Amino acid sequence: MLSHSGASLQDRLRQLPSVDQLLKHPDIHELLSNVPRKIVVESLREVVEEARRQLLSSQEDPLPPVPSISELVQRASALCAQKNAFTLQPLVNATGIVVHTNLGRSLLAEEALQRLQVVCRTYSNLEYDLVNGRRGSRYVHAEAILREITGAEAALVVNNNASAVLLVLNTLAKGQEVIVSRGQLVEIGGSFRIPDVMAASGAILREVGCTNRTHLYDYERAIGEHTRLLMKVHCSNYRLVGFTAEVALEDLVRLARRHNLLVMEDLGSGSLVDIASVGLPQEPTAQHAVRAGVDVVTFSGDKLLGGPQAGIILGRKEIIALCKKNPLTRALRVDKMTLAALEATLRLYRDEPTAWRRIPTLAMIARPLESLKDQALRLAQRIQEAVGAPFMSVQVVESFSQVGGGALPERNVPTFAVAVSSKPWSANQLEKFLRANSPPIIGRIESDRFLMDVRTLQEGDPDIIVQAFARLKTEELR
Ligand SMILES: *Cc1c(COP(=O)(O)O)cnc(C)c1O
Repeated sequence: MLSHSGASLQDRLRQLPSVDQLLKHPDIHELLSNVPRKIVVESLREVVEEARRQLLSSQEDPLPPVPSISELVQRASALCAQKNAFTLQPLVNATGIVVHTNLGRSLLAEEALQRLQVVCRTYSNLEYDLVNGRRGSRYVHAEAILREITGAEAALVVNNNASAVLLVLNTLAKGQEVIVSRGQLVEIGGSFRIPDVMAASGAILREVGCTNRTHLYDYERAIGEHTRLLMKVHCSNYRLVGFTAEVALEDLVRLARRHNLLVMEDLGSGSLVDIASVGLPQEPTAQHAVRAGVDVVTFSGDKLLGGPQAGIILGRKEIIALCKKNPLTRALRVDKMTLAALEATLRLYRDEPTAWRRIPTLAMIARPLESLKDQALRLAQRIQEAVGAPFMSVQVVESFSQVGGGALPERNVPTFAVAVSSKPWSANQLEKFLRANSPPIIGRIESDRFLMDVRTLQEGDPDIIVQAFARLKTEELR
């Protein structure tokens, strides 16, 4: 095929450089020191191929010139960066949701991060009994500190709380009945539903009471020859308000004792400190469940506890021993990274003020309003300066943070946020632009403003935000 004027298609195709030629470019040379050769070559090949396709399908007359070498190199570099990027990457959480399951839940304390390095850089006694010089159990490692802090007789750590619930139900109540209040048949985001977990465990769910009210006599009437367990579930992500009634854990324990049954509590968030001490509404603690006499209680390691993902089971010695013997435990086992980080986190709870200070989840929840306000004012001013244009309105607004992770579902925590709105761009466009930043900045939209809650910002995050807004000045938003 000949072009009517100018060069023929064949001429143009011949002008395209080869991958080998491009590999000699100094920028590509430099790229090769950071990116595996395989990825560089693949990117160059794709870029040249794409240029060839464009020529072949071009309807333009005369044919457009082939892209310059530096243009092709630039495209290949960008492609390389994409291909070589980690999929799991850090981002800026400006949502104000402290325990955000989609954003990685709890941040680890410095002590936990250091312990991870210490334990994982070398061999360890993960399953080795140093006293007797033989095979040991990985489950001893976090157990001592858990017993110390909570007063429980025994403890077992598994992969997450969902597996803790599954394991306990399967161990104690397979083929038998478990009585649960209708008001507590909760679905946690990401498909954890009490009835489904119950079914998977082989236990038989026996619902009692009404959605809004369940009384002790409801449990009592449901007790029969197949009953094994009375179960209480923390209504993590919702709250019953109005005309409601729930049976106290202590009453459930008394009833169970009379009938020779066991009591289990799924605490969900499972705080180890009283969050009412920083002026927030009460959340049940693991210690409370132990003191109330439940036979077994389960909770997450990475919600209010502020540690790594884990499911913690506290309970009577015989019950924990049964759980350990269950073959399912092997399938749900934690790795050494979890145990190392968890033990280091738990040790911080030996001194409560230290826990509040050193565990990021607790420290963020406890941040004084004054400090949040100061930070929001400073950030707003820096953004305003960076944008420097009158078309953007940057304001500090009072707002509400959420604890997240199923703690305090609707009792939002007062906070301060920076609200940005602009003439040329909608809040949706701003949100999209900031989400595409590297690292991404995740906030929320409220009445056509983009809101950034400073409660969940980490060291260095304000700089990232300011730089993104400075870049916004020169960008065309789509
Ligand atoms: C969060 C939660 C779970 C699930 O815990 P994971 O650690 O996410 O597996 C189970 N039950 C309740 C009540 C919860 O709040």
